[in-house]
Amino acid sequence: MENCIFCKIIAGKLPCIKIYEDEQVLAFSDINPVSNGHTLVIPKNHAENLWKIAAEDLTAVHLCSKKIIQAMKDALNLSGVACVQLNGSSVNQTVMHYHLHLIPRAVDGPSLPLGPWKMQQGTLESIQDTADKIIAAL
Ligand code: 5GP
Ligand code: ZN
Repeated sequence: MENCIFCKIIAGKLPCIKIYEDEQVLAFSDINPVSNGHTLVIPKNHAENLWKIAAEDLTAVHLCSKKIIQAMKDALNLSGVACVQLNGSSVNQTVMHYHLHLIPRAVDGPSLPLGPWKMQQGTLESIQDTADKIIAAL
């Protein structure tokens, strides 16, 4: 896609620090790392988000993420990896090409600005009501 930064990276028109590449996916270092090792995994076929991505590309991205977080575990002294994926500008997606963030947390490193979530107690009735709406749409 013409004006997509990540498509330009895939095409080699913009540089990146490449971690892994195969026919379906590219993994590269995020230019604004939340923590050391912050990596993005993207499908080579342009798709904006989880609603749009083809099943085989989604599978390839997530199988790749498994390989990469294993390598992170082996190579970096980490205590965990957050896998984060945003859909829509209202939830802070800024690049409209599907991407999975792999964000390691170093042993003894600072907590990631991803959680803990602000939990609030729900009522069983409202949780059930919303679940019923989703289930009915499946
Ligand atoms: P989003 O908020 O859309 O989930 O995250 C987009 C991510 O892409 C951000 O973490 C941002 O730092 C990263 N990013 C944006 N432009 C570039 C770029 O040109 N190169 C690289 N390597 N990362 C980028
Ligand atoms: Zn794209």
